[in-house]
Amino acid sequence: MTASLLGPAAVNEWRAALEHAAGCLACRTSGARCETGERLLGAYERAVRQARSEEGQ
Ligand SMILES: [Zn+2]
Repeated sequence: MTASLLGPAAVNEWRAALEHAAGCLACRTSGARCETGERLLGAYERAVRQARSEEGQ
């Protein structure tokens, strides 16, 4: 995992997703869907894309 290279925003989003998943039964059940978990992962992916687009400029 190289999250530290992706900028503080992505690291924060990743941490939020991990912390949610650690305490969420739905996220830990394979095959189950969790709207909150998906939202947090989506925010992380957006932060990663943002960091990469800024890197390329
Ligand atoms: Zn969840």
